[in-house]
Amino acid sequence: MTETFYDVLRRQGITRRSFLKFCSLTATSLGLGSAAAPKIAYALENKPRTPVIWLHGLECTCCSESFIRSAHPLTKDVVLSMLSLDYDDTLMAAAGHQAEAIIEEVKKKYKGNYILAVEGNPPLNEDGMFCIHGGRPFVEILKETAADAKAIISWGSCASWGCVQAAKPNPS
Ligand code: SF4
Repeated sequence: MTETFYDVLRRQGITRRSFLKFCSLTATSLGLGSAAAPKIAYALENKPRTPVIWLHGLECTCCSESFIRSAHPLTKDVVLSMLSLDYDDTLMAAAGHQAEAIIEEVKKKYKGNYILAVEGNPPLNEDGMFCIHGGRPFVEILKETAADAKAIISWGSCASWGCVQAAKPNPS
C-alpha cells in the first residue's frame, strides 16, 4: 500500500502536534482560513502520495544524473517523502519482468491518477526499433502509459524536441 504524507512524516519523527501546527500554518499562509486546517490534515492523512512512473527513451541519462545530485530538496526527500516514485528503471532495484509488472500495477491501481515523467524520446524511424523497452518499441510503451496518466512531464531536451537523436544524419 502506498504511504500517505502523514505516514512519511510520522516515520521521520514528526510529532502529531507539529503535524497539526503545519496544517494550520499551511491553511493560513494559503489564505484559506483556520477552517481549512482539518481538511488539509485529513487529506494528508488519507490520500496516498502521487505515484510517478519515470520512463527512459533515447537519451544520455544526464537528466537523471542532474536530478540525483540536486540539493534543494535532496533527491532522497523527493523520492522517499514527497512523491511515490514507483518506477524508474535507472534508479530502482527491480529489473526485467519484475520491473515491467510495476508499471502495469501502477497503471491499473492509479488509473488517471499517476504522473508520467519521460526522459529521452521515442524514436519513430523503422517503426520505433531504435529503442526497445522490454522487447517492444519504446513508443508503444510510452503511448500506453500516457493514455491513463494524470499529467505528463517531458524532462529535458531529448523528451521535449528530440535533441541529438533527432539531428541529421542520425537514423533514429
Ligand atoms: S536532455 Fe537528453 S542529452 Fe540532454 S542531459 Fe537530458 S538526457 Fe542528456
